[in-house]
Amino acid sequence: MLLFRLLLIFYVFTNINLLFSIDDKLKNIRFSDNLQSKSLRIVLDLTHKAPYTVFSLNNNPRLVIDLELKSAIKKFKNKSIYIENIRTRKTDQNVMRVVFDLKSNFYIDKHFYLKKNEKNIYRLVIDLKLNNKSSVKYKEKKPKELSKFIITIDAGHGGIDPGAINLGKKEKNITLKAAKELKNLLEKKNFKVFLTRKDDRFLSLRSRRNIAKKNNSDLFISLHIDSLKKKTTRGTSIYTLSEKASDDITARLADRENKVDLIAGVNLQDVDNEVASILLDLKRRETKNSSSLFAESYVNIVRKNGHRLLRRPHRHAGFAVLKSTDIPSVLIELGFLSNLNDVKLLTKKKTRLRLLISLAEAIELFANKRRNFN
Ligand SMILES: [Zn+2]
Repeated sequence: MLLFRLLLIFYVFTNINLLFSIDDKLKNIRFSDNLQSKSLRIVLDLTHKAPYTVFSLNNNPRLVIDLELKSAIKKFKNKSIYIENIRTRKTDQNVMRVVFDLKSNFYIDKHFYLKKNEKNIYRLVIDLKLNNKSSVKYKEKKPKELSKFIITIDAGHGGIDPGAINLGKKEKNITLKAAKELKNLLEKKNFKVFLTRKDDRFLSLRSRRNIAKKNNSDLFISLHIDSLKKKTTRGTSIYTLSEKASDDITARLADRENKVDLIAGVNLQDVDNEVASILLDLKRRETKNSSSLFAESYVNIVRKNGHRLLRRPHRHAGFAVLKSTDIPSVLIELGFLSNLNDVKLLTKKKTRLRLLISLAEAIELFANKRRNFN
């Protein structure tokens, strides 16, 4: 009898579980194109209010929605003229990724949940608007020009802040020259490149980050030249944000009131603080991994091309300029102004270019990898 009861309890429990897992799903995706305003509304019908992350990518224009859902993936029909294709996959047991391949660059205007309707369905609404700069060409297949990879290069220091100085050479002047030369090299490879400064001016670290953000950058590179008391130390190195500093940021950002404006692509409106900081942490971790991937490829290419590297060339530190939540960011010390050999190498255009060509090679490799990301 007891065994029977236990079995019964077990049966009831497994069925409750089953019920919950069946219940937890994305039922339908609906579209409404507005040709006049060149906008698109996507509505996801969900059986529960799943926490989500939404972001758009400009290279091979895409809209990506990550939903915390346990249910299996399924196919959805595309009914928008702005969309090429819809793909779904699980990125993790509990996360379903829905990718919309867009025919042109759209930006996310709004995203929000509507209250559940009489059929107990939650509706997640994403409003997209066409980027003014891009034109939609429906007949052409994926125009290449629309899928440019955007890089913001930051020449370290400037204005009243000269950075390191040695033998009359100032860090701020060399980083500016290097930034402009790197821009040229990258533009020849058909990248879209912005500079944080084009002349000798002071910029706060936050404004440097903001310039990268405003330009919708896929990568942010801050150029510097190190200096040490020990004059024999030389070679290039690359920094990504350290874990400890990053956690502080997560905590601080999550505490702020106007979170959505600060952290584009991560919706924090409808979720509690704990979930918000987890989502933010996920996004930040993804960015940090990308930054580290770039750093590793820089080190490999620089080594392969025979440039001198600092011992342990990939390092971590809490540089404020690297604290973007959603843009992979690195700080590169091209060499040491305190070392005579490095000064020669970095002040002569010909030798400086050699190092920058390797850097451009690393950027190209990284961009190609990101293009294949879905
Ligand atoms: Zn510096």
